[in-house]
Amino acid sequence: MFPSDSTKKQKRGYPQELGSILERVQEITRDVVAPNAQSVDQNASWPEAGIRALQQAGLGGLTVPEMLGGLGQGSFALTQVCEILGQECASTAMCFGMHCVGSAVLSAKATPDQHERYLLPIIEGKHLTTLSLSEVGTGSHFYVPHTQLEAVSSDMYQVNGGKTFVTNGGYADSYVISTVAADPDAPVGQFSCIVVSNDAKGLSWGEPWNGLGMRGNSSCALELDNVMVPRSDLLGEEGDQIWYVFQVVAPYFLMAMSGAYMGIASAALEIARNHLIKRHYSDSGSSLARVQVLQHRLGTLWAMLERTRRLTYHAAASFDAGDPDALPAVFATKAEVAECAVNMVNEVMTLTGGMAYRQGSRLHQLLRDARAAHVMAPTTDLLRIWTGRTLLGLPILGD
Ligand SMILES: Cc1cc2nc3c(=O)[nH]c(=O)nc-3n(C[C@H](O)[C@H](O)[C@H](O)COP(=O)(O)OP(=O)(O)OC[C@H]3O[C@@H](n4cnc5c(N)ncnc54)[C@H](O)[C@@H]3O)c2cc1C
Repeated sequence: MFPSDSTKKQKRGYPQELGSILERVQEITRDVVAPNAQSVDQNASWPEAGIRALQQAGLGGLTVPEMLGGLGQGSFALTQVCEILGQECASTAMCFGMHCVGSAVLSAKATPDQHERYLLPIIEGKHLTTLSLSEVGTGSHFYVPHTQLEAVSSDMYQVNGGKTFVTNGGYADSYVISTVAADPDAPVGQFSCIVVSNDAKGLSWGEPWNGLGMRGNSSCALELDNVMVPRSDLLGEEGDQIWYVFQVVAPYFLMAMSGAYMGIASAALEIARNHLIKRHYSDSGSSLARVQVLQHRLGTLWAMLERTRRLTYHAAASFDAGDPDALPAVFATKAEVAECAVNMVNEVMTLTGGMAYRQGSRLHQLLRDARAAHVMAPTTDLLRIWTGRTLLGLPILGD
């Protein structure tokens, strides 16, 4: 019923390989991620130990297709991996999730050269990547970048612009960056994705990340000043970016985030359950677990999480199966999970009384972490609109 039990039960239905992947993630979460979670939050430190342990356990290529040498897992597996990690440390879930999303984007149309230089090291656990889409000017409209890509010779591009909130910023070995054509004669809105290596000249990082929550993310600003990038690092064709956004980035990203925030909701629910069982009053000796209205509230919270989890797994499985109707479920999922996580932590704070309200309590951290769910793009409001537009047969971006 609760996180660990439910994960065990669901595993019975998994293909053997996914079951063993999730077991590995559970071990790393218990042995490495959980012991470091508090210091990651308190010191806003990037979750190095957890990320390296996941890479060393052979999970770096989780979302790289089997035919390219990876573990060949899709968004269903990514959701569950992030959920397990997110139960102990949402920052680790997000940082590893962003690496997996970046890996999926790199894999989607990888050339043999990109396979050699990026995917093989990713599979070997020697290379960390991430996504860098957001910009100051366009904010939550992350699908319309202003960062410019200009062909300066037959084999080189120059990239200029600025990105914000780059999770894994400064720690990743490469950055998957969205750009727009600098050429004034290029078709309007010709967007492209390109990989930029961390050692490229012309990269400079902003202030260290000091978030309210998700404090280990290292989500920093990045300036790209005349950065020279080989043409061989272009992903797909020039102008392919919208394809990447809706076919790869959004589904993988939404499911990774949904997993991470469901992990937060699960952790909060477990805190509530434990509190109700353990809290006894000295006058009567009775526990809170005997109070009917609290039983009712706990049951309602459990159902909220469980129906959100079912929608999430359904969306991920439909997307992985190539179901043409998967998109509204994929969009709706992260909005539902965001509401579930924020409401859950809020309600659990009430159920667990004054102790939870202490500075530095676990719920204090969960509340801060959960709050990012609504504003991480695609944001809750945009996802609601996209779901509605898809159902109405309207183009997702329009008007
Ligand atoms: C912890 C954290 C980690 C992040 N990591 C990454 C990362 O790794 N990579 C990356 O690229 N970005 C990342 N981001 C950035 C994030 O994805 C968003 O782009 C950013 O938070 C939103 O931009 P903004 O602050 O300018 O919001 P605004 O664009 O100012 O939006 C404010 C509000 O207006 C709403 N809004 C805007 N337009 C519409 C509309 N048309 N209809 C309805 N509502 C609308 C939004 O939903 C939002 O609630 C991260 C952000 C956070 C907080």
